Amino acid sequence: MKLRNWLTLGGITLGSVAVASAINSFLPRPFVTDQLYERPSAPALLPTTLPDVEITFLRCGSVVVPECIAVRGSLSLAPRTIAYSAVLIKHPQGTFLYDTGLCNDISLFLMDQSFLFSNTLGRFNMERSLCTHLEHLHMQPADLDFVLLSHLHWDHVSGVPDLPGVPLHINRVEYDFAAQGMLEKNQGLVRRLLSNNPVKFLDFAGPAYEGFRSSCDVFSDGSIVLVPLPGHTPGQVGMFINRAHGPRVFLVGDAAWLSDNYVRPATMHPVLWSMVTSDDATARQTLIDLHHFAQQHPEIAMIGMHDAQMQEAFMTAEQKRLHAYTA
Ligand SMILES: [Zn+2]
Repeated sequence: MKLRNWLTLGGITLGSVAVASAINSFLPRPFVTDQLYERPSAPALLPTTLPDVEITFLRCGSVVVPECIAVRGSLSLAPRTIAYSAVLIKHPQGTFLYDTGLCNDISLFLMDQSFLFSNTLGRFNMERSLCTHLEHLHMQPADLDFVLLSHLHWDHVSGVPDLPGVPLHINRVEYDFAAQGMLEKNQGLVRRLLSNNPVKFLDFAGPAYEGFRSSCDVFSDGSIVLVPLPGHTPGQVGMFINRAHGPRVFLVGDAAWLSDNYVRPATMHPVLWSMVTSDDATARQTLIDLHHFAQQHPEIAMIGMHDAQMQEAFMTAEQKRLHAYTA
């Protein structure tokens, strides 16, 4: 065969492999859920008296992606909204945020980012900054006792510049990992966003909780219980909210982008998954844990920090409940 024919054949072969692997990346990667480890779990014994806890999602921005990008194995191009949110929690012993959404000056912080970053993870529509949300609620940053960060990816600490001086509560494991490189990535983006706010480290010295391997009871009253959800980052923190009125809530950080991720279970598209996941196997095991937990507890709202649909549904139900309660 002539050289030109060999080159043509090679080109066709390489092209076919590229097309096949692109198609394969959208197909499901099976989770054999009944063969993977299901942690033994005793249901948490909730205290007989719990306080009222108010929960408000503050959505600061969003981006729309086709479902097949957010959920591997979905062949749907249906638009799914990825939110950038903070959650305001009002507990009798303290008012605080879980994650921080986006600050007023986020565009300035992102100005020096690479073309790739600006057109992938750094691309979103700004809706309402964190400080504008607080103004609408007639709140000052000083009204917040602290901020609890689910993890130290830039999009979860991006509201901190709107909260000067508010203490940041961070899992020690997460901070130690971030200090090895994540703080300085993208021209020191996370370090700059964390500003000079004081930091308090959290240690998860409490017992296993609802099948998760350890816990941290924030107010020592069983109402706000943190659990580790490692994999997306090593020290990612999930938060259970148990309250006198209203359903139990489990905020899962970025362990699942959308509820589909733990319901199926399925990761996001593998290219995106590998860009944002620090440990593939651990993150998949955490998804399995969430999958089993969701099956055992359909009554608990399990909400990811980017899951716009779940956040909107929760707020609608919460407003109805409060209206009925006060009517
Ligand atoms: Zn995120």
